[in-house]
Amino acid sequence: MAGRVLITGASRGIGAAAARLFAREGWDVAINYNSSREAARRLAAELSGLEVRAVPIRADVSDLEQAEGLVREAEYSLGGLDCVVCNAGIALPQQLLTDTTAEQWRRLMSADLDGMFYVLKAAIPGLVRQKRGAIVTVSSMWGLTGGSCEAPYSAAKAGVIGLTKALAKELGPSNIRVNCVAPGVVATDMNGHLTPQDLAALEEETPLGRIGAPEEAAQAVVFLASDRASFITGQVLNVDGGMVI
Ligand code: NAP
Repeated sequence: MAGRVLITGASRGIGAAAARLFAREGWDVAINYNSSREAARRLAAELSGLEVRAVPIRADVSDLEQAEGLVREAEYSLGGLDCVVCNAGIALPQQLLTDTTAEQWRRLMSADLDGMFYVLKAAIPGLVRQKRGAIVTVSSMWGLTGGSCEAPYSAAKAGVIGLTKALAKELGPSNIRVNCVAPGVVATDMNGHLTPQDLAALEEETPLGRIGAPEEAAQAVVFLASDRASFITGQVLNVDGGMVI
């Protein structure tokens, strides 16, 4: 059954692909963005053509007040929420932990973990009142395995998995499912810095022999949000071409 979804970080990449898939299934979509205003507006206009409500909402989720404002505006614009997808995230340049500054560590944690806490803290009361809903978080294969020269990102993404599992237990009695998607290497701006040689090496390491498309990660998000996953909670679904087996 289609519903009303708020997707954080939906202006580009996996979040934008998820917004398109949700809308194609008839969901109304709140498209959160931070800096990519034009992209979010274009996406909202595109989705409105599918006869669903699509609302772009600016908010930096790493700021508590903005995250709360985002949830209130999404609830107001869509008349409530049935699903929240916590997808917004950033990565740091690959570097040794010892070369990472405290400012970089804090910036990463703020965007990738604090933001999720702020958005969920604001959105959960509405879902609990309805006694129904789904939450989908976006982690990474590095949150499962740890990535060399990706320690802060790995720590934040492992935190996302812990948060997901804890909330699945906490919110199950309120009929709210909480699941996580852990993508491998996906062709988005986040990997724009990779050289053709880097990409070839990553493809070589992947059992399916290629990197993923944003739509492939988004399909897992929409599945976990939907009633097709009605008895699934607390799970991490790897979408990584077999990188983590
Ligand atoms: P992307 O193309 O770089 O897009 C990131 C999105 O997050 C943008 O829409 C950006 O919004 C938004 N965002 C970043 N910081 C934000 C903030 N503070 N407040 C609100 N929005 C913010 O990245 P992606 O590859 O689609 O990544 C999406 C998620 O998948 C992330 O959590 C990432 O860690 C995870 N992931 C990606 C890969 C991969 O290979 N691509 C692999 C594993 C996990 P603006 O542009 O509007 O600022």
